[in-house]
Amino acid sequence: MNNYIVSARKYRPSTFRSVVGQKSLTTTLKNAITHHKLAHAYLFCGPRGVGKTSCARIFAKTINCLDLKAQGEPCNTCESCQAFNEQRSYNIHELDAASNNSVDDIRSLIEQVRIPPAIGKYKVFIIDEVHMLSSQAFNAFLKTLEEPPHHVIFILATTEKHKVLPTILSRCQIYDFSRISVADMVEHLEYVAEQEGVKAEAEALGVIAQKADGGMRDALSIFDQVVSFSGGDITYRAVIDNLNVLDCEYYFRLTDTMLESNVSRAMLILNELLSKGFDGQNIITGLSSHFRDLLVCKDEATLVLLETGASIRERYKETARRCPDKFLFKAIEIANTCDLNYRVSRNKRLLLELTLIQLCQLTGPDPGDSKKKLPIEPIDRPGKQPQAAPVAATKQSPPTVAETTAEPPRHTTQPLMSTSIRNLGKEEKETAKPTAVSDVKEQQTPFSEAELTTVWEEYAQSIEKNEYLKNTMINCKPILQENYLFEVIVHNPGQEDELRNESVKFLPYLQSHLRNIQVDMKIRISETNEKKLAYTTSEKYEYLRKQNPLLNRLTSEFNLQPD
Ligand SMILES: [Zn+2]
Repeated sequence: MNNYIVSARKYRPSTFRSVVGQKSLTTTLKNAITHHKLAHAYLFCGPRGVGKTSCARIFAKTINCLDLKAQGEPCNTCESCQAFNEQRSYNIHELDAASNNSVDDIRSLIEQVRIPPAIGKYKVFIIDEVHMLSSQAFNAFLKTLEEPPHHVIFILATTEKHKVLPTILSRCQIYDFSRISVADMVEHLEYVAEQEGVKAEAEALGVIAQKADGGMRDALSIFDQVVSFSGGDITYRAVIDNLNVLDCEYYFRLTDTMLESNVSRAMLILNELLSKGFDGQNIITGLSSHFRDLLVCKDEATLVLLETGASIRERYKETARRCPDKFLFKAIEIANTCDLNYRVSRNKRLLLELTLIQLCQLTGPDPGDSKKKLPIEPIDRPGKQPQAAPVAATKQSPPTVAETTAEPPRHTTQPLMSTSIRNLGKEEKETAKPTAVSDVKEQQTPFSEAELTTVWEEYAQSIEKNEYLKNTMINCKPILQENYLFEVIVHNPGQEDELRNESVKFLPYLQSHLRNIQVDMKIRISETNEKKLAYTTSEKYEYLRKQNPLLNRLTSEFNLQPD
């Protein structure tokens, strides 16, 4: 392993046959070559690392090969092929338009177009990332592209086809390269591992392939990275740990909590993931894909869409059998909504938690069957030890369509989660018989106003982007009344609106952190004689001025004007 060459370079394909995952496309190219039907210009489109440049080079080599094989492959032994393989051929010119996109760059390229090849038949000009050419360069190039000398072939490559001018597109034969499938990548990585004498578990290579997201070059460079830290023995565990990949194990565990309607377990798993440093957006994106994967396992016909190794495939099939179709449809929808709202959310963790709560409510029993117990364990709460005894509650009936549709929670007028959580409580009060008395009591854990205020402030401090709301929550403290109802006295309708909108999020937060599902809020706008707080700059100034008359002097001496 001392002379370890970066695999992406070492295993660059040298024949069409060795190009990974683009079989139909390479077949078309080979047919064109064997039937002598060459175009003057080609445009290769597709994501990065899928073999566009490699194919362009192989194409250039093949059409210049002096001893072309019957299948349209280069011989790799003739003088021309060897020159190509040793990168000393004069018949290939590569221009990276990402860094050489000026008119001068194009002019010097056009100069070379005129000179016919000394050996071989064709000069091939590869222009990579062609959409990056400046518009002047484009115009300078257009004439040559329209009428190139017969010995010239252009191969333009781009990752962003929509940015290529229509005048260029219409002059090229277009080839769309697809993302390379996980199975194809794993197969190629297995080959590379074997060649390098590296031991590798198939599942580990599967993770690398998934992480590379369709690009072979990325897959090989991740492979190199893994080889160097694992010392030539690539295990699934090592890959998961070192690449900081979210193990699908977590998603299987999360799915189980949803099938059991176990909110607290779901919250704990989320906490574990976040504390391991996984990004919330990745977690939710991964969860969406996981549901999607479970869905495709439901039907033999769609099973081919599952891109995983054989042993994990069985696990997917087994879990999918336990998931009702309706659950998966709804789950994908809920996870996707969370994914969409994640970036703009002010309290990302809470959004994730709410999503999990919603997901856990999808599989409740039919209405009327409320005898079943839902274990709710205390979730982590700063400064408070979790209780050992799990708290039980009745299961929630499945939410109605209106409750779970894709509307972002923040914009709904009806407090969505609090409604369902409160229903949960009511239902229990009505149906729970004396045997469950202790459960009911624990689920309605009494709390003091001080405890309520602490959790209230915790929430307020976590608000990131809405200073107005944050200040309102910090200044207007909850006043505990009876039956776990608290009142918040605000000073104007704007504050009331903000609080009411946000209550969709903070009521469930208070309910879970106080371990009392009955917690509810009412809002009142203060009478004029009640305490008035300063919100605007001038109000603050007035307040300070009353507190400290010296401010008057300061203002006049320095000629300051409060706005
Ligand atoms: Zn040859």
